[in-house]
Amino acid sequence: MPRKTKTKSGDSMTSAHLPLCRALEAIREERKTKERSLPARLRSRARWAKLRAAHRKQNPLCCNPLGIHSEGVVVPASDSHHIVAIHDNPARAYDINNIAPLCALCHSHIERLERKGVDTSIYFNSTR
Ligand SMILES: [Zn+2]
Repeated sequence: MPRKTKTKSGDSMTSAHLPLCRALEAIREERKTKERSLPARLRSRARWAKLRAAHRKQNPLCCNPLGIHSEGVVVPASDSHHIVAIHDNPARAYDINNIAPLCALCHSHIERLERKGVDTSIYFNSTR
């Protein structure tokens, strides 16, 4: 005999509903994953986390691409920025030469410029 429970909305539900609920939840999760943008999906992978950690270890300081920080001022990097954006070239998502260490302030300025359509790659090392 299925056990009855009440949902948050007060509806009565039996344990027979649980497999259906779980299936619906799995479908919703799958849909959510598919709906996420390609950059978000690539950044959510363990490969990105490992690459970012390795890059941060080698490059712990903000590269100050816009000259915001005064000469000699050392600011720790908190963000890893894709110089060529993932949506422009997904093949370079995990290219360590396509990552720049930035502090949150510099990253927000760079992203603001990108939203205005500025090619910000010019602010980083030109050998990329
Ligand atoms: Zn900075």
